[in-house]
Amino acid sequence: MQSQGEFDLIAQYFKRPAPSGMLGIGDDCALLSPAQGWDLAVSTDMLVEGRHFFADGDPRLLGHKALAVNLSDLAAMGARPLACTLAISLPRVDADWLQAFADGFHALSRDAHCPLIGGDTTGGADQIILSITVMGEVRRHQALRRAAARLGDDLWVSGTLGAADIALRLMLGSLPPDPARLALCRNALEAPMPRLKLGRYLAGVAHAAIDISDGLLQDLGHLLDASQCAADLWLDFLPAHAALQGLDEAVRRDALLAGGDAYELCFAAHPRRREQIDTLSRQLALPITRVGTLRSGSGLRVLDAQGQEVSIQRRGFDHFAAPL
Ligand code: ADP
Ligand code: MG
Repeated sequence: MQSQGEFDLIAQYFKRPAPSGMLGIGDDCALLSPAQGWDLAVSTDMLVEGRHFFADGDPRLLGHKALAVNLSDLAAMGARPLACTLAISLPRVDADWLQAFADGFHALSRDAHCPLIGGDTTGGADQIILSITVMGEVRRHQALRRAAARLGDDLWVSGTLGAADIALRLMLGSLPPDPARLALCRNALEAPMPRLKLGRYLAGVAHAAIDISDGLLQDLGHLLDASQCAADLWLDFLPAHAALQGLDEAVRRDALLAGGDAYELCFAAHPRRREQIDTLSRQLALPITRVGTLRSGSGLRVLDAQGQEVSIQRRGFDHFAAPL
């Protein structure tokens, strides 16, 4: 951004003191020093107005979510957040919008111990575009890589599934209006909480993990491809969010299997870890459900209670495929 206001804007809305041992906002680069024996985990996610968020949505929630979806990638790697950067392109400067956005962003940044240490600010384009990079650390050889699942592993899913997908459909009008249901599931879409504690605990315990951002079948498919395994998934064991109750079975099933924006972790672990994972679930007060198993071959079968394969319409979200 060329305008006079760029540096004031950065100072007012984004600049915060960097934690000790780090150089933060205000120089050509930020500096951070990962601990010895740890790997640096880095991930970037972009959010575009009209595609990832509604133009008229609550900016505070957007600030939260933009960072949350990035932190979810650190969680899926088993990494502890270190710092983040924020690149933002604004069609215009709207002080109220920026203040609310920054408040939401900084609140999660504080809670997750992920300080904002740099970024870029520019004008132009008709939409707001956000690009956040998160950096984290994970003990060497303990990162939850997609390619590290093994035959015979159990498949697990954290939390519940489907709520964000149903909220989005209700808001887009592709499901008939249902205010009571929307009240139940809206939070899942607008204020997801990255599973950072779970991810960190799983590093060194589970073999592989992925976060469910584009739909369980699609994201799990990536993990299976990378690990060269096949999987059976038990439809009746999938942890459905309460907001899915009473929905048409096809809609419910689609939300569970292909609904995006879930930000839960799907992970593969050796069966001898079952007790440990059940204990963790109680400690975190977070459901962690065993939903399937890895087998040899390729592909992903979804089985009903009778062990019959269920046919699937949609696997997940793809930006370059037909819209919802
Ligand atoms: P440069 O000219 O090196 O690109 P800038 O003038 O763009 O630096 O930014 C000045 C400082 O403010 C840098 O430290 C940069 O990382 C930081 N910064 C710019 N925009 C943001 C933002 N949206 N959030 C956080 N830090 C920012
Ligand atoms: Mg710059």
